[in-house]
Amino acid sequence: MMIKANNPDLESWIEVQNGNDFPIQNIPFGVVELKNGKTRCASRIGNYVIDLYAISSYGYFDNLGIDDLRVFKEPTLNNFIAQGQPAWRAIRERISYLFSKENPLIRDNIEEKSKILHHILDVKMMMPVAVGDYTDFYSSIEHATNVGKMFRDPENALLPNWKHIPVGYHGRSSSIVVSGTSIHRPKGQTKADDELSPAFGPSKLFDFELEMAFIAGKQSKLGDSISVSDAENHIFGLVLFNDLSARDIQKWEYVPLGPFLSKNFGSVISPWIVTLDALEPFRVNGPIQDPKVLPYLEFEGKKNFDINLEVFIQPENGEKNSVCRSNFKYMYWNMAQQLAHHTINGCNINVGDMYGSGTISGPTPDSFGSMMELSWKGTRPVKLKDGTERKFIQDNDTIIMTGFCRNNNLRIGFGETITKILPAK
Ligand code: MN
Repeated sequence: MMIKANNPDLESWIEVQNGNDFPIQNIPFGVVELKNGKTRCASRIGNYVIDLYAISSYGYFDNLGIDDLRVFKEPTLNNFIAQGQPAWRAIRERISYLFSKENPLIRDNIEEKSKILHHILDVKMMMPVAVGDYTDFYSSIEHATNVGKMFRDPENALLPNWKHIPVGYHGRSSSIVVSGTSIHRPKGQTKADDELSPAFGPSKLFDFELEMAFIAGKQSKLGDSISVSDAENHIFGLVLFNDLSARDIQKWEYVPLGPFLSKNFGSVISPWIVTLDALEPFRVNGPIQDPKVLPYLEFEGKKNFDINLEVFIQPENGEKNSVCRSNFKYMYWNMAQQLAHHTINGCNINVGDMYGSGTISGPTPDSFGSMMELSWKGTRPVKLKDGTERKFIQDNDTIIMTGFCRNNNLRIGFGETITKILPAK
């Protein structure tokens, strides 16, 4: 399928600097708060935000299959997304057309331009969707293997189900927040191996999880299943996802029903949802799945995406330290398989639901997607530029995640997920 807006030769009349995540081929979707306090659905080119309600009020989105243009002044993208894939595609194509270098319609209209465009520094990024349900998978074979080696049996690191089922659990949506939101270190019960009873206090083993998350763009009915081949039509787009975790709380509480309070005190997403369409040029093959999966999980074609991921730790008043470089392409189970598995029992999904990939670790020690793996359970501290070491995250550290795709002629990025960790309340 050829998507016109993805043409790598297109240039915008909005200046886009080299290395910027948001060239005219990206056209992500988000929600901003303007200086006047109003909330708007938005897109972005370079360092400029496009107010989708303002642009639609001049008639530029007429006859594109959106019944009511007021969806663009709602505080979330949910009702825009619910208009369906043909509408998202039409809006993306229209933005591409309007902002192409040679198109004078808005470029040469000072009045309209001033109402439609805002510099990124003049808006506040908001949570882009109301997340109904949130599911977290566990789909990186390197991550699952590392965890198995550290906590169970190095010889049989993967549990017997792992290569047959995209393992996941139901998380909590109320505490999913947008980049820039600070999170307090959680308190809870922990039990040291050499103690008989648990203790209560701030988590000592506070960690990030480097993940991507996809956002459902199409509802399914209770009782119905989504096939692997149809699954991508149910995906609106992706964000970076920092799934904060308290390892010591998790270790004590997770038996037998899985993580609970160790995972639901804050998870942070990047504010711009990059559409699956924009990622089309970056499809790659995933790892070979052996043993063969059951028929309902079989797929054809390239279902993984080459997205470079990086994590930085920035101590208070200090420099950024790169601690991990990984890639979304390492995922053993792809998003289409995750969604097909999720619905194979008839579980219905809703627009705005969010699905975390699970921690994305790569094959080398510098590509592990959590402090638990990077410091190997605290046995190999990570050195920072200021001379300090980290086994886990300290109070007032800021965790920054970035992600972008790149080929010879195009860079499509996600921006950042920035999270400062505050002391326990
Ligand atoms: Mn997670």
